[in-house]
Amino acid sequence: MPKPVSSPHLVPFDGSFKLRKAPTRPREDPGKEECRARLAAATERLYDLQRRLYADDRYSVLAVFQAMDAAGKDSTIRHVLTGVNPAGCQVYGFKRPSPEEYDHDFLWRTAKRLPERGRIGVFNRSYYESVLVVRVHPEFLDGEKLPKRLVTKRIWDERLESIREHERHLARNGTVVVKFWLNVSQAEQLNRFRDRLGDPAKNWKFSAGDLAERALWPKYMEAYEAALNGTSREWAPWYAIPADDKPYMRMVVAEVLADTLEGLGVDYPPLTAEQKAELEEARRDLGVTLEAADPDGAPADEEREAKDKKEKKKDKKDKKRGDKAKHKDKKRKGDKDKHKDKKRKGEETAGEETAGEEQPAGEERSAGEGDEAAAPPG
Ligand code: ATP
Ligand code: MG
Repeated sequence: MPKPVSSPHLVPFDGSFKLRKAPTRPREDPGKEECRARLAAATERLYDLQRRLYADDRYSVLAVFQAMDAAGKDSTIRHVLTGVNPAGCQVYGFKRPSPEEYDHDFLWRTAKRLPERGRIGVFNRSYYESVLVVRVHPEFLDGEKLPKRLVTKRIWDERLESIREHERHLARNGTVVVKFWLNVSQAEQLNRFRDRLGDPAKNWKFSAGDLAERALWPKYMEAYEAALNGTSREWAPWYAIPADDKPYMRMVVAEVLADTLEGLGVDYPPLTAEQKAELEEARRDLGVTLEAADPDGAPADEEREAKDKKEKKKDKKDKKRGDKAKHKDKKRKGDKDKHKDKKRKGEETAGEETAGEEQPAGEERSAGEGDEAAAPPG
């Protein structure tokens, strides 16, 4: 099992975490510029590490995000996963359970969404809601349709035990569990609610229920403290991330995630003798010579990095080219429509003889083709 990443925000494993002492702002603020630069560096690393994780195909990574409303779960997930191949990661948001989900135990719906080997899975809220929002609103237990005799005072400790065991089971089977609690202050939450209410583009993010939950802040904090103390363990550590400063929060999450993946030591799998022979044959057939390589046939590290960079550059170029082509297509279509309009107008004035006559396809195509000057820059 990989060791948790060392961090000032790591929640201890002995139940001694004091939530009221956990900072909501960085103790030492490196400043926006540095946070942005380090976030970019960490996402670059994640890009490379995720490819190795995928090629290795043995571990999976589960990143759990929990927080009060408006702490920035969505935007953090977006920033941290920027640049990671979408095919190699999956994000699920868990809302109030559906009737079908209520017909099962509380781990069922999330178990179905666990990441496959080689992938990074992100839970935006998770099974932890069953010891957070449900603990704050015990009436929600009625909806869960549990046999009455199982609903006792011990239910929260029992649930925490189930979670601990579940996560240990995952860890033993190759899922690396890493959990982030985005610790926003009550004052900053209010600022963000005001922002959501005042900005039409953010109105949709606000729901009246958010204020009701905010009023239950102390109860939520109690529930969070119990959950973090009960389940931060070596095999599934929690990190309590100061969330009042968004650039800092995003940087720390990205770095912890990248360091966690790095700790796995995953790499591209070495080729078997048979695969090497096959490749050799294919090279001969296609007249390709192998670039300088290490004795196992895998490219040396620096070379691989250079290659990856080249590929990334190429991807960017391809994208640019694609955008340009799309633009041209649009333009061509616009020209075509204009042409049709003109033609139609012409037909309207010229009478019925010419109606229905089709423009030769070749002519239409030539309208925008090779017309570089018509394409916008970039
Ligand atoms: P945002 O931060 O953008 O508001 P969100 O994650 O809060 O996103 P919402 O649709 O606003 O998304 O809220 C989902 C709601 O579902 C939360 O209030 C959460 O507590 C609730 N929920 C999630 N799981 C459960 C559960 N097991 N039982 C009851 N409520 C749950
Ligand atoms: Mg919400």
